[in-house]
Amino acid sequence: MIRLHPVPRPAKLTDDKVKELTERYQREQKSVWNEKFIKDALLKLSHGKCCYCECRVDSEGSYLEVEHFHPKSLYLQEVMVWENLLPACKRCNVHKRDHDTKQEPIIHPIQDEPQSHLSLRNYRLYSKTSLGEKTIDVLDLNDRERLVEKRFEIGDNLLETLKNLWCDLEDLPEKHLTRKRKQLIDLMKEGTARYEYSATAATVILQDEHYQQIKTWFIQKNLWNDELIDLERELQFARL
Ligand SMILES: [Zn+2]
Repeated sequence: MIRLHPVPRPAKLTDDKVKELTERYQREQKSVWNEKFIKDALLKLSHGKCCYCECRVDSEGSYLEVEHFHPKSLYLQEVMVWENLLPACKRCNVHKRDHDTKQEPIIHPIQDEPQSHLSLRNYRLYSKTSLGEKTIDVLDLNDRERLVEKRFEIGDNLLETLKNLWCDLEDLPEKHLTRKRKQLIDLMKEGTARYEYSATAATVILQDEHYQQIKTWFIQKNLWNDELIDLERELQFARL
């Protein structure tokens, strides 16, 4: 889970439209929020991922569900309020169900800072606060089959690649340096907000001993350039 930057309410979702759809929902109890312009804006908000577990919801075989942070079953008036809509995967949406987020709050991916409430160790999430604990519990964020194993797979691949990258650096002919830097850049990108499970990837990379050795090596050679500095900043943003 990473912090998301809010996107503006879609122009088509005018006050009149909100009123009309809210009334229609109250009358017919149908999914009035399944409009393309709403889903497109939500996909933009989360870079095409579930706002809670960070799996992709914009690829074949997975699709976005419009999630009501404050459940529509309890807070009817918020059913079309833009700030109450988030992009989620089916798994997270099913787990959250009608959980009353006003009585028992969980982390809001836009309003709260997940880093302040969660940490990652051995590919499992741990809580730093009661808000973090409630979030892990309600969304089952340590689902072994669907999340922990996926995090392990991603993290283990990154660690292997970092180890190989570090072993190759010593005695490397100058002509191969550009290629090695490109490899490092591609690897670091996996820990940025646009990528699936970026919180896991960013945490694994930044905590890795080989990554720190590679960084020191690049700095000593005056190769730690602005692109790498910016990328590391993005990793710090996504990490837990
Ligand atoms: Zn999810």
